[in-house]
Amino acid sequence: MGNLKPHKARKRFGQNFLHDQGVIQAILSAISASSDDHLVEIGPGQGALTEPLLQDCKRLDVVELDRDLVQLLERKFSAQPKLSIHSADALFFDFGKLSENGEKLRVIGNLPYNISTPLMFHLLEGRAVIKDMHFMLQKEVVDRMQAQPGNKHYGKLSIMLQYHCHVEKLFDVPPECFDPAPKVVSAIVRLIPHHEPPIKTENPALLSRVVTQAFSQRRKTLRNSLSGLFSAEQLIAHEIDPTLRAENLSIEKFVKLSNVLNQRK
Ligand code: SAH
Repeated sequence: MGNLKPHKARKRFGQNFLHDQGVIQAILSAISASSDDHLVEIGPGQGALTEPLLQDCKRLDVVELDRDLVQLLERKFSAQPKLSIHSADALFFDFGKLSENGEKLRVIGNLPYNISTPLMFHLLEGRAVIKDMHFMLQKEVVDRMQAQPGNKHYGKLSIMLQYHCHVEKLFDVPPECFDPAPKVVSAIVRLIPHHEPPIKTENPALLSRVVTQAFSQRRKTLRNSLSGLFSAEQLIAHEIDPTLRAENLSIEKFVKLSNVLNQRK
């Protein structure tokens, strides 16, 4: 290993490599993998998490976009039968094909922050084969993901994500734990997909539409922000107070409104 050329971090691939052993250990114990687990790591980089993850798993698939890093990983882990390295863009990767005989995958990633939201939604499309996910993300994004009604961070991301999974922020990670250090504080989040959403929308596109419209003018009351879709009387008929703002409306009520719209068509 000593003769490998050091890799120069590439900004366009969102490369911030973890080097703090305390944080690496904290992530590993949060995941708490066992020898039955089929793990998938997105963006393994130089293998800071890959190496310890390999110790406790049945199988580990890693998906890396940067071809130089793929080569580095292939050399570093050449004699590891449990590991498969995929040279691919995670945004277009079919994670379902990794699951064999209905087994569920545990997904892990210190993700490039610019692709984190689309990547989470791509993974959630394949949630049937996912047991759980642990991600390093921008703290500000994690705050939005787990926000509850009444919180200033509660918005479209909170609703669309919590509709599909249980979201739990685990801990913050300061910039100096990475090389190079990012400009923002990071956080580790755990996502566990629901088998069935607690309340189901008949039409996910309409859920997205109602939520987008309600939050398009965050400071306005629902009576105003949703006026193109519902009158105040209609909101009241569905037990929604029209003087509330979007940030005070529960996911259940947003789902209910999407179902009302769906029935209308
Ligand atoms: N997990 C490593 C690296 C984190 S940096 C560590 O903690 O040290 C983010 C990693 O994601 C880099 O290796 C980067 O090349 C990779 N990456 C960026 N975009 C990607 C994409 N679309 N698909 C897969 N990997 C990607």
